[in-house]
Amino acid sequence: MLCPYCGYDNTKVLESRFSCEKNNIRRRRECENCKQRFTTYEKIELTPLNVIKKNGSKEVYSREKLIKSINIACNKCGIKPQIIQEIADRLELEFSFSSKKEVHSRFIGQKVLSILENINKIAYIRYLSVFEEFSREEQFFEKLQNLTYLH
Ligand SMILES: [Zn+2]
Repeated sequence: MLCPYCGYDNTKVLESRFSCEKNNIRRRRECENCKQRFTTYEKIELTPLNVIKKNGSKEVYSREKLIKSINIACNKCGIKPQIIQEIADRLELEFSFSSKKEVHSRFIGQKVLSILENINKIAYIRYLSVFEEFSREEQFFEKLQNLTYLH
């Protein structure tokens, strides 16, 4: 990426923002030579993504469904809707970069969990309980205990 001011070919990325609606990445850059700042946009080519579910059936990835599942886990946890949108953005960005055509629902779930774990422990536990489909109550409390031991 050449600096539009001085032509120097090393620029530092200060900030990257993914926009789902516009389907692009906006990057704020700074020239390492003249320190001028400018913005670039990268268009993402999305290939339709199939989600492979636990029972082996496939369906087309739906952002709406993903958001809904995170919303359920985050209900009354005080997490802003904006944060949930950003989680979806992060995941979609990752899918588009890896240019995968198929992804396991389990993989999506694990990604959501790893993000929630750092944001909100209650939302994390809730998502985990749905994700793992605990067959017995003890299993749930076992996980809960393991988690509290982390502190
Ligand atoms: Zn420059």
